[in-house]
Amino acid sequence: MPAAPPTSIRVLREAGVIEVAWSDSPPVGLPFHFVRCLCPCAGCIDEISGERTLNPADVPHDVAPVKLGFSGNYALKIWWSDGHDTGLYTWDLLQELARQCSKSN
Ligand SMILES: [Zn+2]
Repeated sequence: MPAAPPTSIRVLREAGVIEVAWSDSPPVGLPFHFVRCLCPCAGCIDEISGERTLNPADVPHDVAPVKLGFSGNYALKIWWSDGHDTGLYTWDLLQELARQCSKSN
């Protein structure tokens, strides 16, 4: 079953996180750099091998979202300050990122 859409998505610039919340769990802060490095687009992942081609070292440390938007009712689109804007973060992916972040806290 695909993940439900988050109940809230907020950019907390001072904390440097995108805060995502679902109705059944507390909000989780996803660090900008972490989210940017896990961009799922074809420019960041090799579509055939599934291998990540984006080198995190190439992403500016102070990368931040410029704008958020929605793609249909299934994904979050993020325009990044490094000019990257092709990533669509599905609810499934956001939930996976949230899981990784809450584990490392
Ligand atoms: Zn990408």
